[in-house]
Amino acid sequence: MIDPKQGFCPECGSKLIEKPLEGEGIIPFCPTCNDYRFPKFNVAVSMIVINEQTDEILLIQQYGKPFYILVAGYLNRGEQEEQAVNREIKEETGMTAYRIHFNRTRFYEPSNTLMCNFTAYVKDASELNPNSEIDSYHWFSREEARKNIRPNSLAAEFLLAFLDEDK
Ligand SMILES: [Zn+2]
Repeated sequence: MIDPKQGFCPECGSKLIEKPLEGEGIIPFCPTCNDYRFPKFNVAVSMIVINEQTDEILLIQQYGKPFYILVAGYLNRGEQEEQAVNREIKEETGMTAYRIHFNRTRFYEPSNTLMCNFTAYVKDASELNPNSEIDSYHWFSREEARKNIRPNSLAAEFLLAFLDEDK
């Protein structure tokens, strides 16, 4: 129940124990602070951005790396995932998503992040004006996107699952 990587209280460092909490089940508990310590992790959204006019998918390159990935970003505290999807697309690409659809989630251990994948449809690709976080971008057909997404990445897992089911 207690994640071995989060076995100590983030406030005081004491070893956590397991304790029942009404309505929640067994929850990690700090006997020193006398308080429950729910698991901590990050939440991010990743987006398969589709041009509704052409059915093409936007893939981007970032951080000086040569492979194509999906547009993505972390949630702000208090923000809804739907808001984060729209905000990240606007901030990073300048475009407006007019319809979004939830796909699936995966936990990404290296960054302790729950990644939540959405499809986001845009109508007006002429608004595309990438910010400095994006080195380059390309609109791909579905089959080209499948070939160009970074292999064995979480982005590829999300994209391929979407392409396989959305036929
Ligand atoms: Zn504590």
